[in-house]
Amino acid sequence: MSQFLKSFFFTGFLFWNISSNAQNEMYSSPVKHEISDTTFVNLKDFSKDFVYDMKYATEDNFLKAKVYDCAECVLRMKTVQALIAANNDFKKKGFKIKLYDCYRPLSIQKRMWEIVSNPKYVADPKKGSIHNRGGAVDISIVDSNGKEVDMGTPFDFFGIEASHNYENLSKEIKSNRKFLKKIMTKNGFNSFDSEWWHYNLKAGLKDKVSDQNWKCE
Ligand SMILES: [Zn+2]
Repeated sequence: MSQFLKSFFFTGFLFWNISSNAQNEMYSSPVKHEISDTTFVNLKDFSKDFVYDMKYATEDNFLKAKVYDCAECVLRMKTVQALIAANNDFKKKGFKIKLYDCYRPLSIQKRMWEIVSNPKYVADPKKGSIHNRGGAVDISIVDSNGKEVDMGTPFDFFGIEASHNYENLSKEIKSNRKFLKKIMTKNGFNSFDSEWWHYNLKAGLKDKVSDQNWKCE
C-alpha cells in the first residue's frame, strides 16, 4: 500500500471514530447522570411540562414586592428528578403541576420573616426553610385546559383554611388536596400541615442553606 493510501485509511478511521463519538455526545441523557444530586439546576433545562406562576417574580404576593428578577424554578437536581416523576404521574391523569415557588435565597427568607414572623407560615431564617435548601416547592395542579384545580384557598393564604387538617371544605376541594398529596408523597415529598401548596423533598431536608441568585436571560 502506498504511503498516500495508508494515510488516507488512517485519517478515515480517525474521522469515523471522532464522528461516532460526537454522535454519542449529542445523546444528552447520560449527561444528566453526571450532575450530582445536590447540584442546583434550572427545572426548564430538564422539562418543559410545567406551568409557571412564580408569585415572587411579581408584586402579587404577601410582600407586595417583586423580589425575584425573573421567573425561574431553580432546585437541587434530586428535587427536579422527583418533581418530574410526580408531574409524569399527574400527566397520566390529565393534570400538570403549576409552580408558585421553588428555591428561595436566604436573604428573601429574611424579608419574608420580617413581615410574617409566624413559623406556621414562614420558616425562621435562623433555621432556614427547605426552600432555602433547594428541596421545597410550592405548587398546585391545572387540568388539561390549563384551569387551576380548586384547592379552597389561594396560594400563601395564611389562615386555618389552608391547612390539610381543616375539615370545613367541600368534598371536591378535599379530594383535590388529597390527590395532590397522594402523588407528591408517592414521589418522595412530605406535605406540610398548615399549607396545602408546600412540599418538602424528604431526601433534601438536611442539605445546606444557600443564598445565591440565578441567572436571568
Ligand atoms: Zn413553601
